[in-house]
Amino acid sequence: KYEGKKIGIALVGLGYYATKQILPAIDASPYWQLTGIVTGTPSKIPEFKEKYNLKDENILNYENYDKLKNCSDIDVVYVCLPNGMHAEYAIKAAKAGKHVITEKPMANSVAECEAMIKACKDSNVKLAVGYRCHFEPFNKEAMRFGREKTFGEINYINSMFGWRAGNPNMWRLDGKLAGGGPLMDVGIYSINAARYVKAMEPTSVIAHFGPITRPDYFDEVEESVSWHMEFPDGTVFTGFTSYNTNVEKLECYGDQGWFEMGPAFSYGPLKGKTSKGPMDLPVVHHQTYQMNGMGPMFLSKDPLPDHISGLEGLKDIKIMMAIYESAKAGGKKMM
Ligand code: NDP
Repeated sequence: KYEGKKIGIALVGLGYYATKQILPAIDASPYWQLTGIVTGTPSKIPEFKEKYNLKDENILNYENYDKLKNCSDIDVVYVCLPNGMHAEYAIKAAKAGKHVITEKPMANSVAECEAMIKACKDSNVKLAVGYRCHFEPFNKEAMRFGREKTFGEINYINSMFGWRAGNPNMWRLDGKLAGGGPLMDVGIYSINAARYVKAMEPTSVIAHFGPITRPDYFDEVEESVSWHMEFPDGTVFTGFTSYNTNVEKLECYGDQGWFEMGPAFSYGPLKGKTSKGPMDLPVVHHQTYQMNGMGPMFLSKDPLPDHISGLEGLKDIKIMMAIYESAKAGGKKMM
């Protein structure tokens, strides 16, 4: 059990994910301690200030965020803002000399991701993306199945992830704040999973937007999108993501068997079965596993493993932008 000095972390944006998932994980981990908050809502401050004994100098808002450079108790910031704000607040944190964890999707564009990677490199700070599934037992098992070829070479993957949106005012429907619809929000899990099962990058995609059934919701972002993607070894990956349908699966077929998970990516409880029997794995709090996994990586002087870093986030954004380009223009998009 780690008993050294804890890493001071500040949450940027005190919304659902920061306060209901990441904060309990910070509390449960021996590596981390909440030492700061950044919020645009003053009424949220007292609860956190009191519970965590936060110093006034470590309580910031979006206007005085550059004071971060003076916050010696804050080693790492965790950006839990709407997607369109990730780049700005990650880059400013890097310039203040702070390591960064940013939520998925890493940002709204390839250029933003590249600017984040450059800013962190220039300031010699780490940049991680909060891909919790990389620390979660079922998804780690899926990676192992791919790597060890437990079911032979996987040559067909199908994955769907969607949920039915019920709030027409949520930022996830705002093109600028969200960067896109369900693809940016949850379709990203299917894409990341296909990449980690194959341990390869796809080469082409053909995508189609689904129909808009609720025009009052979907005047800025897609309601659904589906795709046919190919990997260099001939593997076909079909996918679907939607704000209209509750669906969540990862199905992988190899030349010697298959495995499938559903629920595959959410807080579950995740379930999985294979052509050899059930996936009998522990159901865990993903974010606690993530923060416990990231602790030693941030304590170490070594660079982050690529699949935890901004490089991984950038790869998914490149693919999602190719999906959007194909769906908008029609036809095959090479990557
Ligand atoms: P919320 O809407 O619950 O929280 C976002 C917070 O950002 C707000 O509470 C607010 O905090 C702050 N904020 C600042 N400016 C704005 C603005 N213009 N509009 C809305 N909020 C603003 O979102 P989530 O917590 O669900 O999502 C935050 C990020 O986390 C997203 O990138 C999302 O993709 C990711 N996420 C990841 C999940 C995962 O499993 N890895 C699951 C859920 C979300 P304040 O009032 O303190 O300023």
